[in-house]
Amino acid sequence: MYYILSLGVFGLLFGSFAGASVWRLRARQLALDAENGEKVSRKDKRQVDKLKRGSLARDRSVCLHCGHQLAWYDLVPLVSWLWLRGKCRYCRHAIGKSEPMIEATMAVFFVVSYVFWPYQLVTPVEIAQFVIWLLAGVGLAILFVYDLRWFLLPNAIVFPLIGLGGLYSLTVLAEQQFAWSQLMSSVYASAILSGLYYLIYVASRYRWVGFGDVKLGLALALLLADWRLALLTLFLANLIGTLIYLPMMAKGSVKRQTHIPFGPFLISGFILSGIFGTSIIDWYLTIALGIV
Ligand SMILES: [Zn+2]
Repeated sequence: MYYILSLGVFGLLFGSFAGASVWRLRARQLALDAENGEKVSRKDKRQVDKLKRGSLARDRSVCLHCGHQLAWYDLVPLVSWLWLRGKCRYCRHAIGKSEPMIEATMAVFFVVSYVFWPYQLVTPVEIAQFVIWLLAGVGLAILFVYDLRWFLLPNAIVFPLIGLGGLYSLTVLAEQQFAWSQLMSSVYASAILSGLYYLIYVASRYRWVGFGDVKLGLALALLLADWRLALLTLFLANLIGTLIYLPMMAKGSVKRQTHIPFGPFLISGFILSGIFGTSIIDWYLTIALGIV
């Protein structure tokens, strides 16, 4: 119980960090776009100017509406938002629901990961692997929101995730006494999640998926270090994507040409596979196929 409570609190804190990182990254990206002479919408520019005035330099958070710097008691994850009923203390402007949602989601993610973690948590290596998983989840939360809003997976997050993935694969490999089959499992996982997206990326002439998806796929594959889990991730990502987009297409609210951010589906599939994947695969092999 003690572990669950502390993990929940850590989840809230990391969720708060993830929510703030989304805006910091966005500000950085827009500054870069402006330098490269790309168009930046007025609304984006206004928000970034406010961020710059208030927070970026001193790394403090500001209200996106009035630019007022927020005190520590305005930044208590979830609690502040509930206390202020989702409004800024200074200008009473509604704060978006996305920050408290990221915080709550991360708390749930930390707790569910611990409760349903499919591996033992005894040796230092096993605990390190669990910590890598949680940290990866924080990065993925940032990517999830970012890709959903702006159809982009920033390298500033994807590259560290690939690093974390490499580390994870390495620890699994060491546990298996550097068995060839384990190494190949990571390699196949990368081929399934990253290689396939690369093929689609090239075949569709860079239109259906972005190169960001290719890099994200590599990070996820290395974080799974198991080709079966990689396959399951791909399957779940497509399933979730289809379940969400088919009704929207039927209603006509999205057209076929609409750019679909695939990152969030891939991330959702990955989280499900990472936590429940081994159980799902065992269930499938024994019940559905009758293999013991
Ligand atoms: Zn305000």
